[in-house]
Amino acid sequence: MPPGTITRVIASREKAPKHGPGRLVVDGTDHVLHRKAQFALHPGAAAEARLLALLAALCECYNAALAERRDAYRATGRTVSLFEQYNQIKDLRGVRDDVLAWGIQPVRSALKRLDEAMAAFFRRVRAGQVPGFPRFRSRSRFDTACWDEPTSWKLGKDAETGRWRLAVQGVGTVALSKKASRQLDRLVKRGGDPATLTITRRRAGTGWVWRATVGFKNVTTQPLPGTGRVIGVDRGVAVTAATSDGQLLRYPAQAQAARDTAVLLGQSLAGKKRGSRAWRKTVRTIARERCKAAAIVDNWARETAKTIVAAADVLVVEDLELKNMTRSAKGTVDKPGRNVRAKAGLNRSLSGAALGKLATRVAVKAEEAGRTLWRVNPAYTSQDCPACGHRRKGNRDRTVFRCLNCGHTTHADVNAAVNIAAAGQQAHTVWQAAGAPPLARPKPRLRRRTADQPLPAAA
Ligand SMILES: [Zn+2]
Repeated sequence: MPPGTITRVIASREKAPKHGPGRLVVDGTDHVLHRKAQFALHPGAAAEARLLALLAALCECYNAALAERRDAYRATGRTVSLFEQYNQIKDLRGVRDDVLAWGIQPVRSALKRLDEAMAAFFRRVRAGQVPGFPRFRSRSRFDTACWDEPTSWKLGKDAETGRWRLAVQGVGTVALSKKASRQLDRLVKRGGDPATLTITRRRAGTGWVWRATVGFKNVTTQPLPGTGRVIGVDRGVAVTAATSDGQLLRYPAQAQAARDTAVLLGQSLAGKKRGSRAWRKTVRTIARERCKAAAIVDNWARETAKTIVAAADVLVVEDLELKNMTRSAKGTVDKPGRNVRAKAGLNRSLSGAALGKLATRVAVKAEEAGRTLWRVNPAYTSQDCPACGHRRKGNRDRTVFRCLNCGHTTHADVNAAVNIAAAGQQAHTVWQAAGAPPLARPKPRLRRRTADQPLPAAA
């Protein structure tokens, strides 16, 4: 790929091409990527009022566009296209200038979101399911505004303070925090051009918390030096993940503690009067504890992914389905679960979510570092002996792998990771023998809700 091309290539589960026993997820050939900066936004009272008015206007547009599509569908069996609706925006001029105060970008993206909802509806219809027609949205639930082009908003930097500020048409200028400025500095330094903006709100007490996401294109990659090694990562039963070089990885215990507190408090809610002071206080604490758990796991996933990606050129993970991961208490055929009762009950484990996040971070880091990432079928990886090739269910006894044929003994999860690495190596060899064909480049789309989730992330 010539430098300067827009790319963001992490193949989805369905689209990853097969080579030998693996599927290629990241081919590591990119020079530039899309990256996001995500930060808290602290608008003043006036700017906040204008943001709220924007969301109300977008909600109105969304619902009007939905009504039009619904009526057309009822009358003719087909709906109005996104393009046709885009063309109607200009008709608002002179009639509803208030809606255009923020420019046409946010209106377009509200229509686009409806279009995505409609597309999902028809996809399910075609698949023979009985989906609900997209619904009208209430104002209190319409929380996101998007700008899919770098127009009618602008990032600027205060030369004196070094802080960035975000100017949005119809909203005004909002000064950004030091933390946000550091993120923006990093991406701009790597050649990134701001391309998209998303602003969302979340209810917090009686007010709102705002967040902004700026999508950058043309961010250069930061290739890591080659190591000539292959690393496999296995979803652990006893540990969260194990690597083929013998590391047992587990997210910090404080995360689980925070999650447990949230679950326990959730149960205590039943005894409180809904809406009462005690009830509200508990709800707030639950949210805080959940946030804390998520933040700890997030940090852990980033740090761990960094180490894994630095360790090898070829990264191999299991090809897991979301269902299998969240069913971890019951286990799968290949890996029967343990502590079913403990897990199924109050002590809901975070490990599914942690693994999802780890897999995501590994993919993103791999792309950035110019590594290749493979997914391989995990069938039998827990039973095969890497020393003699003997396959037997009895080779594994809980956390210990002991080959019944040759006596090779190791940690069960590490053993599975070794087998996963071997399968990945095999896939990599087949791929290279075929001339290392790169992944197909999808049509560039900056605001892709699933872009950061190449592997399923459990809730
Ligand atoms: Zn053996």
